Amino acid sequence: MADQSPDRIAYLAEQVEELKANSLYNHIRTLEGPMEGRVIINGRSMLNFCANNYLGLANHPRLKEAAKRAIDQYGIGPGAVRTIAGTMTLHDQLEQRLAAFKHAEAVVTLQSGFTANLATIPALVGPGDVIFSDRLNHASIIDGCRLSRATIVAYEHNDIADLRRKIAETTEYQRRLIVSDGVFSMDGDIAPLPELVAVADEHNILLMVDDAHGEGVLGRGGRGIVDHFGLHGRVDVEVGTMSKAFGVVGGIVAGKQIIIDWIKQRGRPFLFSSAMTIPDAAACLEAVDLLESSDDLVQRLWQNSDLMKREMQALGFDIGGSTTPIIPLMLGEAALAKEFSRQLFENGVFAMAIAFPTVPKGKARIRVMNTAAHSAADLEEALTVFQRVGKSLGVIA
Ligand SMILES: *Cc1c(COP(=O)(O)O)cnc(C)c1O
Repeated sequence: MADQSPDRIAYLAEQVEELKANSLYNHIRTLEGPMEGRVIINGRSMLNFCANNYLGLANHPRLKEAAKRAIDQYGIGPGAVRTIAGTMTLHDQLEQRLAAFKHAEAVVTLQSGFTANLATIPALVGPGDVIFSDRLNHASIIDGCRLSRATIVAYEHNDIADLRRKIAETTEYQRRLIVSDGVFSMDGDIAPLPELVAVADEHNILLMVDDAHGEGVLGRGGRGIVDHFGLHGRVDVEVGTMSKAFGVVGGIVAGKQIIIDWIKQRGRPFLFSSAMTIPDAAACLEAVDLLESSDDLVQRLWQNSDLMKREMQALGFDIGGSTTPIIPLMLGEAALAKEFSRQLFENGVFAMAIAFPTVPKGKARIRVMNTAAHSAADLEEALTVFQRVGKSLGVIA
């Protein structure tokens, strides 16, 4: 039979071939059991250092029970967008509990952190306005900025002097917004939020931080970056996610009541995409309960990551400048990082190689994501494997 694929999609096949030729094609691994400190891949139990499941809540018995109970009471799907018939008691409760947890005036939840950014940024600024955006901001912030049709001015990463310069050079606009990731997920460094607040106050500019990797990780009991710096009420909008430390899925926007009200009027993913599902909302509520009642998991996360950092450094690895549970094992060349990751995998450790274009050329690394779900024995075993692979590739002596 003749090849029936029409010419009009041939360009996709070419592009896929190009990705493969440049080792940029994503090969997706499938987990054959729950998300935990160990996961099953290709029938093998692997130590997992790839997930954002910081607190090990993705398979937590209390969250699972809460989701099951909610399904029995309310069903599965909301069946509508929030503004028509999709707002259920659970959504209202979750928003109130999150606002109390984070000491914010109000919260609106969305389907994901990604849609939270798409809802928030275009609701705040538009054509004729300007956004000052950290050069390393997450893709969903960049897309939110583009959707807003405001002018985007990128400032150098965490560089307050450059931000000040760019603000001084950019005067012909109406409203202005500064936006930054809270935790930068490739290096594990934290945005200088107090300085950003000072600049925003000085120039009367809206300030937004996306705390996806800080939610459940930073601050007292995981209350996030605003709490970490004690800046309650000083940051206009704090976006977050329940897809990482909360172990479920869903986006958070926290801030002043008027901002949250406005996002409910004008945030397009809020208006035109259905609400969070019932089991998700219920599991997130349970996660808030759990975090409010104890900071044990947050403490265990930090103990685990501190131990890993200490031991990795003692082994002679360069772990960059992370101040969070994300450990970048700096290797340099992409080929070395890839081979390192492959050998880790062969030895039962699942940790991702990250290279250009996600990080600059020559800064390839293994990204080691820590979690409260790892036991002391897991960490010991992982360190033995890191040492073995590091020696076999000549990275450490
Ligand atoms: C992961 C991440 C998101 C996306 O969150 P999801 O809930 O997975 O959509 C948004 N912003 C930042 C900074 C992130 O790290």
